[in-house]
Amino acid sequence: MGSLSVPTDIFNPLDINTFTQESQMVLNFISDYYKNVENFPVQSQVEPGYLWKNSPNTPPNSPESLETILDDIRSSIIPGLTHWQSPNFFAFFQANASTAGFLGEMLCTGFNVVGFNWITSPAATELERVVMDWMGKLLNLPSPFLFSGNGGGVLHGSTCESIVCTLAAARDALLKEVGGDKITKLVVYGSDQTHFSLQKASKLVGIPPSNFRALATTASTGFGLCAHDVRKAMQEDVASGLIPLFLCATVGTTGCGAVDPIESLGHVAREYGVWFHVDAAYAGSACICPEYRHYLDGVEHADSISMNPHKWFLTNMDCCCLWVKNPRSLVDSLSTDPEILRNEATESMGVVDYKDWQIALSRRFRAMKLWVVIRRYGVANLMAHIRSDISLAKRFEALVKTDSRFEVVVPRRFALVCFRLKPPRKGEDDDDGSKLNRKLLGAINSSGRAYMSHSVVGGTYTIRCAIGTTLTSQQHVEAAWKLIQEKADHFLLV
Ligand SMILES: *Cc1c(COP(=O)(O)O)cnc(C)c1O
Repeated sequence: MGSLSVPTDIFNPLDINTFTQESQMVLNFISDYYKNVENFPVQSQVEPGYLWKNSPNTPPNSPESLETILDDIRSSIIPGLTHWQSPNFFAFFQANASTAGFLGEMLCTGFNVVGFNWITSPAATELERVVMDWMGKLLNLPSPFLFSGNGGGVLHGSTCESIVCTLAAARDALLKEVGGDKITKLVVYGSDQTHFSLQKASKLVGIPPSNFRALATTASTGFGLCAHDVRKAMQEDVASGLIPLFLCATVGTTGCGAVDPIESLGHVAREYGVWFHVDAAYAGSACICPEYRHYLDGVEHADSISMNPHKWFLTNMDCCCLWVKNPRSLVDSLSTDPEILRNEATESMGVVDYKDWQIALSRRFRAMKLWVVIRRYGVANLMAHIRSDISLAKRFEALVKTDSRFEVVVPRRFALVCFRLKPPRKGEDDDDGSKLNRKLLGAINSSGRAYMSHSVVGGTYTIRCAIGTTLTSQQHVEAAWKLIQEKADHFLLV
């Protein structure tokens, strides 16, 4: 073999003095980062391959100092970051970081337990049950979704995972009735605004691509799914020998914040006996405030609902809450019963074994994080956090409306504003305004002073300004608007 040599010092990767000292260094490093985060270009300006080209192509044989590593992070990694914690980040949906979320994450990482079943860390499982019922009560979910009402919840890493798991549960429950050979007949329904995670999940659980329905939405329903259209699609599918399986409604779509009518969709779902899932990944957090809770009206008709505290609930990545009315259906689909995991607690059937509620075996102690966030801030402050973001979004929307060159494309519901420059007059080189707005967005983002993203809603290219990073305040929103106007001046002149 080559020159790999054994270190001479005694190697202790969890030496407590080093742990304390170096953790403190990293904490200081992160505090400095937050202090300076506004000074970096929000969207990373590096070229593809920038890091790959300049990195050693073999790993070090001997230890390097933490100072050296942090220096490299400062000089090579930070320039390649898009700063999601910058107050000038308005793209996609925010990923809230907070002190409590960070502390919870530290505790989760520090204990580093793997609570895949109850006995591998009873506190991890039981705290997750507690915190899922807390969150369910914050959203005023009907009791059948709570453990206290014979339903239950689980923390996943992402909505994508939650949808795969519920879809698998729905598939297996239905196939048990109609026969496994019918899998090619099953149909999944959403709208053209539904997050692509539904399509991905359908592929993963073996639904033929031609049996995935993304029903068209229009401005007349605020880009919400129309129950009548869903009923018609299901009727037609049944008539042609297909079997409706799963309907996904969204509260707060990614593209434009649209809300599907849960109540009326719930009735259609019951009529056709399909599994009804509510995806409230983004806007679910807002529904803790009584004035937004009506968006969940009708959720009693759903079989499952999910939302992401890692977006708007001050909970650092990753954290997705999924509630199901019938946990047995998840377990029936996802459990295996391997000999190596046999234990008395499981056999007593008196405990939750969360490995059977998710894809992976190993799982993080995410409940710790959400529990610390809720306790440290309290419900009143969590509501205040949501309300303050929504009032900033109202402010931004009002600013857009003061400038006649612009329009708000979709009425704002939460803290996402979809706007664009009105298209130029007919006959000019731009057909529908998409070229112009794409250029405008490019100019905003390459300035480094703000970062926004886009969507296409009802065929219209729109710029999305999603307000809600933890550090964003009115001055940032106003500066972003000024920047947009400045860039628009430039494009409309040339
Ligand atoms: C962000 C988002 C998702 C995807 O969430 P992940 O946790 O990243 O999988 C799904 N649905 C909606 C409506 C979203 O906004």
